[in-house]
Amino acid sequence: MIKLRKFISAASSLLLVSSALTVISPDTADAYDGHTITVGYYDDCPGFQSGSSDDERKSGYAYEYLQEIAKYTGWDYQYRYGSFDEITELLHRGEVDIVAGISEEWKQKDKSSGYVLSQYPAGTEYSELFSIPGALDDDFYIAVYPNGSELADTLNEAQSKILKNDPEFTGKLTRKYFTGSRESTELSFSEKNWLSAHATIKIGYLDNYMPYSDKNDDRNSADGAMVSIFQELNRIIGRSISAVKYSTYAELFAALESGEIDAMFPAYRDLWRLERENLISTTPLVTDSMVYISKNGTDDFSRIAVMSSSPVQTLVINEHHHEAEIVHFKDINSCIKAIRKGSADGFIVEKNVLEYYLSDGKDISDLVTSDSQVSIEYCFAVKKSSSALCSILDTAFSKMDSNTVSRAINSNLYRKNSFTFIDFFTHNILRVVIIFSCIAAIAVLLFIRNRITLRKKQNEIDDARKTISSSRLETSKYREKTERDHLTGVFSRGHFTDEARRIMGSHRPDDILQLVMMDIDNFKSVNDTYGHDNGDVVLRRLGEILREIARVNGFAGRFGGEEFLIFLHGNNTEIQEHIITNVCSKLRETDFDFTERHITMSVGVTRISDGDTLDECIERADKALYYSKNHGKNQVNYFENLSGL
Ligand code: GH3
Ligand code: MG
Ligand code: MG
Repeated sequence: MIKLRKFISAASSLLLVSSALTVISPDTADAYDGHTITVGYYDDCPGFQSGSSDDERKSGYAYEYLQEIAKYTGWDYQYRYGSFDEITELLHRGEVDIVAGISEEWKQKDKSSGYVLSQYPAGTEYSELFSIPGALDDDFYIAVYPNGSELADTLNEAQSKILKNDPEFTGKLTRKYFTGSRESTELSFSEKNWLSAHATIKIGYLDNYMPYSDKNDDRNSADGAMVSIFQELNRIIGRSISAVKYSTYAELFAALESGEIDAMFPAYRDLWRLERENLISTTPLVTDSMVYISKNGTDDFSRIAVMSSSPVQTLVINEHHHEAEIVHFKDINSCIKAIRKGSADGFIVEKNVLEYYLSDGKDISDLVTSDSQVSIEYCFAVKKSSSALCSILDTAFSKMDSNTVSRAINSNLYRKNSFTFIDFFTHNILRVVIIFSCIAAIAVLLFIRNRITLRKKQNEIDDARKTISSSRLETSKYREKTERDHLTGVFSRGHFTDEARRIMGSHRPDDILQLVMMDIDNFKSVNDTYGHDNGDVVLRRLGEILREIARVNGFAGRFGGEEFLIFLHGNNTEIQEHIITNVCSKLRETDFDFTERHITMSVGVTRISDGDTLDECIERADKALYYSKNHGKNQVNYFENLSGL
C-alpha cells in the first residue's frame, strides 16, 4: 500500500503539471473521431487486461483506462491478443498502435524504439501487485507507435484531461482491480515475516489520558479512542492486539526499549526526540493543540503544572518555556486546583484532554484559557529495528476509513455515563447491603409501629364500642327507670300518661278504651300497724299483679302513693271487666306474712270516648273511685253507671 500511495502521490503531482497545460480544444479530439486504433492486448497480467478474444468480455485496469481515453479522443479500438512478449513484438513491428503498461526502464532495455511512451504515466506497476512481466515498481505508460505521431499528442492531451478532471482516477482503478488478497500481495517479505512471527501485537498505552487512552478501573477494561483504533488494526492486520497499560510516558519508552511491547500509543510525534530514542513513528493519526490556562491570562510562567500522564506537556514546556519550573500533578483536576491555589501559575494542556475534562460539567470560567498556537501530532512509535511493524501499521492506517480516528476521538470526548446499576451494585456491595438493611429495618419498624397503632386504634374502637353499648345499657336502664316506677315496676305516672295519650290519638276505630283508677283501702293503717316496709311489700305485690294481668290489653301506671291507673284497650269489654275484678281479687286473696288481713282496693272506671282529654278521663275515674270509697270501699264503680256525679 505504501507503493500504492507513492502512485497516488505521483498522480497528484501530475495534477499540478496538468493544471499548467492549455485546455485541449474539442477539435483536436475530433480529428481522430472515427479512427480505429489497434490495441495490443496481452493476457498474462491478471486484473490488468482480461478477456483475450473478441468474444470475451473485457475488463481490467488498462482496459478501463483506455476506455476513459476514448471518452476524450473518440477512438474506436480493435484488439490484437497475445502474451506480453508477443504483443511487444507486434509493437516493434508497428502492427499495433498502442500498448498499455510499458515502463521507461523497459523501453530503455528494449532496443527497438519505434514507439514512444505517453507523456503521463497511466499508473504505477507494482511488481507485487500488478505482476506485469518485468515490472519494477515503476510508473508505467502507454506505448504509442510510431514515434512522434499525432496519435501520441492526442493521447497526451486526453491523459492530461483525465488527470485534471479526476486526479484520483488511476488510484480508483488500482483499488478496483488490485485489492484482492491485500495482505499477501501488498506486504513486503520482511513485513510478512514480522507478522508470521507475531500472533499478537503488544501495544503499550498511557493510563489516565482521556480521550486517547485509559484503563477504566471500574470496568477493568481499556477505554478511549485507542480502543476503536486497536480494533480496526486487529480487523485489518488480522493479529490480535494486546493493550498494556503504563502510567507515564517514560515507562512507555522503557517498555519499548526493553521489548516488553512492540509499539506504543499515543506517541508524541516529535521526530527529533524519537530519533534520539532510536524510535520511528508511523504517519500522524491525530492532531491536537495546546491550550494555556492561567489565573490572569499571561503565558509568562515561572511554575508550570504538568499532569503526569501527558506525553506532551513536559516536552512542549521544554521547548517553549524552558526557563519555567515544572511541577507534576497526578491529573488535570489537580493541575487546575494548583493554579487556583497559586502553587502553579500556568498549565498547558491538550485541547482534547481539556474538553474531556470539562464534559463532566466542570467549570473553569474563573481562569483564563487561551490557544497556545502549538499543535501536536500523535502516532504509534516502534523501535527502529521494527521498521517492518511500522510499515505494517502505516499500511493498515491507509486502509482504515479516513474518519475512523476522528470518530474515535470525538466519541470519547464526552464522559460516558455508562456506569450501570449493576456496576454500581458490584462496586458498592457493602454500601448496597447497608442501604438495603437500613431500608428493611425501617420497613420492619414502620410495620411494627403500624401494627401497634392499629392495635391501639382497635382497642380504642373496642373501648368506644363498649362505652357506647354500656351507655346504651345505662340509657335504657335510665329510661327504664324513668319509664317505670322503681318500687312496683309499673309505668311511672309520666310514661303512663304519654302512652295513654298516644293510644287515645291513634287507636283503631273499634277499640274500646277504659281508664281505671284504684286506691288501696286503709293503707295508712297498714303502714302504721305493720311498718312502712311491709306497706312496700303490699305495693310491690300489687305491681306484680298489675304487670301480669294488664299485659296484652292494657298497661298500668302508678299515679302516686298507693293510687294506680290501668289503661285498657282492645275490643272486648268482658276481658276488660275480668282484668279489673281479677286485679282486685288477686290482691285481696294474697296472703301476706305480716297480717291475716285482706288488702282490698276501691276502684273507679270510666269509658274513654273520642274527643276526651286524658285529664277529663282521670277526673271521671277519680269521681267513680271516690264514689267507691264513700260507699264502703272494696268495690268497683263505673262512672258512666253512676248518676248525679
Ligand atoms: P282510704 O281507705 O281512705 O284511702 O284510707 P287510707 O289510709 O289509705 O288514706 P290515704 O289514702 O290518705 O293514705 C295513704 C297512705 O299511703 C299515706 C302514706 O303513708 C301511705 N303511703 C304513700 N306512699 C307510700 C309508699 O310508697 N309506701 C308505704 N309503705 N306507704 C305509702
Ligand atoms: Mg290514697
Ligand atoms: Mg287509700
